[in-house]
Amino acid sequence: MTGGSSPSLTKNSCLCEPEEDVNAVNNDKTVDEDAHIQVEDWRLHKFQSPIELTHDESIHHDHFEPLEFHGHWDEGGDTTFTNNGFTATLRFQNRELPFLRGGPLHEDEYVFDQLHFHWSEDDHSGCEHLFEGRAFSMEAHAVHFNKKYADFQEAHDKQDGLAVVGFFLQATDNIDNPCFDKLSSAVVDIEKVNSTTTVQSDCLTWIKEVAQCKGYYTYQGSLTTEPYTESVTWILYSTPIHVSREQVAHFRNMKSTPCEQHNIKKNVRPIQTPPTHKKLNVLYARSHRSSSPGAGEK
Ligand SMILES: [Zn+2]
Repeated sequence: MTGGSSPSLTKNSCLCEPEEDVNAVNNDKTVDEDAHIQVEDWRLHKFQSPIELTHDESIHHDHFEPLEFHGHWDEGGDTTFTNNGFTATLRFQNRELPFLRGGPLHEDEYVFDQLHFHWSEDDHSGCEHLFEGRAFSMEAHAVHFNKKYADFQEAHDKQDGLAVVGFFLQATDNIDNPCFDKLSSAVVDIEKVNSTTTVQSDCLTWIKEVAQCKGYYTYQGSLTTEPYTESVTWILYSTPIHVSREQVAHFRNMKSTPCEQHNIKKNVRPIQTPPTHKKLNVLYARSHRSSSPGAGEK
C-alpha cells in the first residue's frame, strides 16, 4: 500500500511530531519506550503491514454483513494512469467516486482515492501480503478514505481513516487477461516518470469477480509506505486473478528516475511481524447473504 498521493508524506512526516502531542488526550497515550515520548496508543508501531495470512490461524466469522462495492465498474468521467516513480496509480475524476460500505467498515462509507500496484523482478515475489506462505506476481491496492474526512490526506493518520482492498495477481501463462489489458497495455504510455495517460473508465472489471467472493481476510494494519500510519482496515481476497507474464512484465519497464537509467524493479515492503506481546487478529469474514440488490452494479 502506498499513500502515494501527497508529496508531503515524506520522512519529515514523523508519527511522533511534538505538535501531535499537544492536542492529544493524555489517557489515550502510552509511553513508547523506544522513542521516549508519549504518543497516542494506536500510533505506536504494533500492527504494521504487510503480514502473512493463514486461514487456520484466522478468526472465522460466518455472518458478516456483506461488503458492498458501489460504482467501481461504472463508466463515465475521466480516468488517469500515472507513473509517480514508485508505482502506477489509477484515479477517477469528474464523476461520482466509487465507495465501499458494509463488511468490516461498520456504518461508515469509504470513498475510492486511487488504485496502485506492487511488483518485483520476477513472477514469484511481487506481492506484499503472503497467503499460506505463498507469494504472487503482483498485488493491487484499491485505497479508500473514510467519507467523514475530506480526503486521503486528512484521513491517512486517523485510526478509522482508510480502507484498502488488496487483490493478488498471478502470472500463469501467456494468455492475456482481456479485462486487465485496459491497464497493462496503457503502462507503455507511462514508462517515463511523472507521465500520465488516460484509460477507459470501466478499467476495473478485472477485479469484479473476485470482489464478489463472499469470503475475505480483514485486519487493522498500516500503510506499507511512509508514513506507515496504522490507519488501514485491510480487506484481502486470497483468490488470485490470473494474468499473463507479458502483462506483468510491462510494469517492470516503468522508470523510477527522470534520467531513465533506473526501472521500478521492485516496490514491495517485506512482511512485518507484530511484537510478541501483541496479538494481531485477522478475521476470515464470510456472509451467507448476498450483497444488497445492485451492489457492485451502481
Ligand atoms: Zn500499496
